[in-house]
Amino acid sequence: MKKVFCMENELDSRVYDYCCELVRKCLEHRFWAKRMFGKKYELPAMAAVCRFYGIVKEAYSYPMFGNKCNPILEQAIHQFGNINQKPTLPNLERAYPLGNCAEQHAADKVLNQACSEGCKIYLRNLRYSIAMRPRTKQRFAACRNCQAILPNVRLK
Ligand SMILES: [Zn+2]
Repeated sequence: MKKVFCMENELDSRVYDYCCELVRKCLEHRFWAKRMFGKKYELPAMAAVCRFYGIVKEAYSYPMFGNKCNPILEQAIHQFGNINQKPTLPNLERAYPLGNCAEQHAADKVLNQACSEGCKIYLRNLRYSIAMRPRTKQRFAACRNCQAILPNVRLK
């Protein structure tokens, strides 16, 4: 029954485990799933892990609460438009709403913790897992928003 996945690094292994955890929680706690994701049984489209040295954070895709995030990320996002709206650049027209991706949420969490610990941090210091769909464990390249906003996001 056990499937073999080729993991490129520890972050990919971690995002796989996180996807399994999301699925398990969703199945085991229907009420939890409804509260977390707004709909019954619905899993987030994507999950990702972000790391800055010892700070490792998992996240899944959903709209940015209150249209707000860490100022470092916010500044990068604002080059392309407003949080929770689609980007304004012509070559990014069909992209997802800004700030909604798992990579951006994971980066936001890492930035918040690093800033709270007084670290001098830049987006280029962050490292990522591949994006993974929790339902299928399929691997996805970072979308064009993430490629534009976050240095080092993974394409494979
Ligand atoms: Zn993205």
